[in-house]
Amino acid sequence: MDHKANENEKRIREKTLESLSNRTKAPTSVFVILLVLYFAASVVVSIASGSRSDIMIAGNPFPLYALAGVFSSLANICILFLAFYCGKAGFFAALTVLVVQLPMILMGVFVNHNLTSLPGVFGNLLAIIAIVVIYRNNVSVERYQTRLREQAVTDTLTGLPNRFACSELVQELTKRGIPFAMVTIDINDFKTINDTMGFNTGNKVLVEIASRWKTIADSGLSGTLDFIIRASGDEFALVIRDHHSEEDILNTIRQYEAALEERLTVDECDFYVTASFGYAEFPADTRDMDSLFSYSVTAMKEVKRAGSSEHILRFTPELLKEGHTLEIENKVRAAIENDTIYFQLQPQYDMSHKLRGFEALARMKDKDGSVISPGEFIPVAEKIGLIDKVDGIVFKKSAAFVGSLIQKSGADITLSVNASVRHLMKNNFLDEIRELLAESGLPAERLEIEITESIMIDSAEKALNCINEIRKMGVKVAIDDFGTGYSSLSYLFNFPANLLKIDKSFIDRMNTSDSSKEYVASIISIGHVMGFEVISEGVEDTEQLETLRNIGCDYIQGFVWGRPLPQEEAERIVMEAK
Ligand code: C2E
Ligand code: MG
Ligand code: MG
Repeated sequence: MDHKANENEKRIREKTLESLSNRTKAPTSVFVILLVLYFAASVVVSIASGSRSDIMIAGNPFPLYALAGVFSSLANICILFLAFYCGKAGFFAALTVLVVQLPMILMGVFVNHNLTSLPGVFGNLLAIIAIVVIYRNNVSVERYQTRLREQAVTDTLTGLPNRFACSELVQELTKRGIPFAMVTIDINDFKTINDTMGFNTGNKVLVEIASRWKTIADSGLSGTLDFIIRASGDEFALVIRDHHSEEDILNTIRQYEAALEERLTVDECDFYVTASFGYAEFPADTRDMDSLFSYSVTAMKEVKRAGSSEHILRFTPELLKEGHTLEIENKVRAAIENDTIYFQLQPQYDMSHKLRGFEALARMKDKDGSVISPGEFIPVAEKIGLIDKVDGIVFKKSAAFVGSLIQKSGADITLSVNASVRHLMKNNFLDEIRELLAESGLPAERLEIEITESIMIDSAEKALNCINEIRKMGVKVAIDDFGTGYSSLSYLFNFPANLLKIDKSFIDRMNTSDSSKEYVASIISIGHVMGFEVISEGVEDTEQLETLRNIGCDYIQGFVWGRPLPQEEAERIVMEAK
């Protein structure tokens, strides 16, 4: 099995070398045609040279022996082509023919005294010299090409195959549908070695690492068939085949990892090197070669980013989200510029199903009309410092709508909007709210600002001052996603909010365990003791609704009574509730 695979590898390598050659060898059919042509021409030469008769060409008599020269030249051309284009076989065939022919021609001249064959002797000798020169030339060109081709698939520093050889192998394996794992390896903190010890030492470290890994790959001790290459700098790659399970892949990678555990001594210095390994499997993770490379690189980068003690990671689609960020980033910028961010309103009710108001939720659409979830674009907007713009758009649009709805219907409803900490921390946040109220005509006590619990903790002092000011304006404040942060009771006690929103995750768990119900019940009681009203979000079924009613929850928001709605539907609910 191993031998077969090695042979295969050699064949693949040869193919790689072959494809790099700029001169292709003629196929066997050309070899055969040239030989046949040669013999046919020779037959014509021998008949024509001994003949005294004429043939008629274009009405004129022409001595047949004169054709001998023409066909003799044709035969020599065939011989030269054989030697030039048909490699070793062509050369030896041409040489044999010429050498065998020479005594016959010599006999004609010296024994039969046929002097017309004399030019043939010189022609033959010249042809022999020419093909020997051509052959020697071919051999040296081929040697040079082979060296060049070898270099093209070999990393000069470590002697390992290089990136090019790797992609040839991967291409072949994907084409033939052979399962394998593509592992990208990067040496951790290699830059430090280079920076502190210089490139020469860095190179020696790389050579030592390569040699240890090559030993494993060549020995076959890993139990899988491994192909190790150096891609560039401190980046290596490993192609693992003949595995039976993911555990086999991990075992193999661990052996390469373990090979670095023993200290490396270079230039009388000891180095302790580790590496990060990211891998993706063909065909399980992807059938596309380019994706396979980029997936394994993504996994490797995640290992580096996470900085944990586990240095091996398999690719998962979630890892792509980071790369996806840039795309979302552009979409957020474009949506702000084109003013295409909009909102939906999710109703909130008291336990008797009376409408309390709505939470405004930001929405953004892709070019193709598909909705991008706020779970995706809000964190990106936060990261690139545009969240205040996104929040601001939702604030303005939803306040204008609900403000006029209240004026129109006289309904007693509250609009809750989400404020990100970055937005809240802006110096002009309070001015923005004042302006919002003035422009929309929404009464201050009808506006509620939702701030997530984790934000309150992270940015305690400034946030607290800002929230106090908001409350002074008469605007309400809700603590969103309550239960997910770690706020202490004493902190909560001083927090000037009016509403606690219990996070959906607690509501979800209520159906499965009694202790979760008790937990939610305790939050509600404590909230009440502290003077907050309590709303549960993410309520999806009537069982949860019943439990919440029994344990004294004040309000609910959730799919059970209403999903986020477009404006017209929200308006209809308000009008119907009158
Ligand atoms: P959030 O403020 O906790 O909003 C509640 C989320 O729960 C909303 O998701 C809502 O659609 C969803 N939800 C409500 N009831 C149910 C239910 O019964 N079942 C399920 N499965 N989900 C329910 P959405 O709209 O995807 O918003 C996600 C988060 O994005 C929001 O969580 C909020 O943190 C953020 N967000 C949305 N709009 C804005 C905004 O304008 N500004 C800022 N800063 N954040 C926003
Ligand atoms: Mg919210
Ligand atoms: Mg929430």
